[in-house]
Amino acid sequence: DNDRLAAWDRESFFHPSTHLAAHARGDTPGRIMTGGKGVFVEDRDGTRLLDGFAGLYCVNVGYGRPEIAEAIAGQARELAYYHAYVGHGTEASIRLAHMVTERAPANMSKVYFGLGGSDANETNVKLVWYYNNVLGRPQKKKIISRWRGYHGSGLMTGSLTGLELFHKAFDLPMPGILHTEAPYYFRRANPAQSEAEFTAACVAALEEMIAREGADTIAAFIGEPVLGTGGLVPPPAGYWEAIGAVLERHDILLIADEVVTGFGRVGSMFGSDHYGMRPDIITIAKGLTSAYAPLSGSIVSERMWKVLEQGTDAMGPIGHGWTYSAHPIGAAAGVANLELIDRLGLVENARDTGAYLRAAMTDALGAHPNLGDIRGEGMLCALEFVADRDTRRFLDPALKTGPAVAAALLRHGVIGRAMPQGDILGFAPPLCLSREEADTIVAATHAAVTEVFPGR
Ligand code: PLP
Repeated sequence: DNDRLAAWDRESFFHPSTHLAAHARGDTPGRIMTGGKGVFVEDRDGTRLLDGFAGLYCVNVGYGRPEIAEAIAGQARELAYYHAYVGHGTEASIRLAHMVTERAPANMSKVYFGLGGSDANETNVKLVWYYNNVLGRPQKKKIISRWRGYHGSGLMTGSLTGLELFHKAFDLPMPGILHTEAPYYFRRANPAQSEAEFTAACVAALEEMIAREGADTIAAFIGEPVLGTGGLVPPPAGYWEAIGAVLERHDILLIADEVVTGFGRVGSMFGSDHYGMRPDIITIAKGLTSAYAPLSGSIVSERMWKVLEQGTDAMGPIGHGWTYSAHPIGAAAGVANLELIDRLGLVENARDTGAYLRAAMTDALGAHPNLGDIRGEGMLCALEFVADRDTRRFLDPALKTGPAVAAALLRHGVIGRAMPQGDILGFAPPLCLSREEADTIVAATHAAVTEVFPGR
């Protein structure tokens, strides 16, 4: 029964990203989830919620898709596991590699499969280092990331992440990992700056860092096309083209972390195409399988591949691999998932219904005195709360406004996410969201905001 499960949970289950003491006291809003269909999930008490964050922005095709469940079951019956070392594969992993490279930007060549976004970014750093070793410049090793970037929570990937929560208490970032300005116009531009001027300032900050450190010590720059966990922030116009030009001039590789943006989230198949990025590596996870099974990947460019290939002739196999690389069940889920995204036109729906969601949100709440910004791209929508619209002054952090709005929203039957830094409420619904469901999100958000700011 539910009480027994709740007791076992407190006794035995070490939850990630959880206030452990609060959970032990029974103070967390924990839930035992049991089912899902489309954009809705259901818990053991029978409560049905519209999941406006698609789990952790990953259940892109929505819950309860029988096509993916059948593919997983079929693969488990036929061959649940075989490894991918020394050239081994399965029909599912080979087909998926083909489907991924078919969809990826034109210069991308091969895909290395992992399990989750964090391990894929670990792989990427090793590939970049290996690449520079092959080219005889092992000192070209530092990685530049951005404040507010999110790239995982391991030692290397937690270092790449630019959020304080992931550094403090762990003595991170590790040496050789640098963070530059976030392209966060709403918060980081000074009041007189136009978007173009702010972009130029971000580029100048990067140039300055490269000059200070020495281009011959910097291997790669990693960034999400749209800052995700750092606040759902699309870049200002021209940002990626300008950053890309600097990186190319200094022979610094670009890693596009598309764990969130890959496979349709921003209304294009890849954020790299959407924003004119020319990456050497693309990180994929979440939307690759819509989280029906864990699987990630590092897609490498043809230029990088040629060097890696040549390196193995000189140095032997790359010393890197996971037992579960290219796991057949994840791969089978990925094949069925990508077929479904095409068949249902979910990339187009992300673009159109996502734009509808932001427009409806702006109609409902755009004039609210405590809403500083409503932003997003494709099926991403963020609301940033402020004490004062004109000055963009922060609300008192002690008020915990973001979590308060998310909690109120939940009482109205919708899941949104209080982003970890700042009073930002994020939405990243499944890409199959309908306009009626978007209206439900907006109505619940309006009610929640009215509750948290009574009389405003
Ligand atoms: N990169 C980005 C952009 C992410 O948003 C995430 C997770 O949210 C990761 C990497 C890490 O992925 P995972 O949690 O699967 O390790």
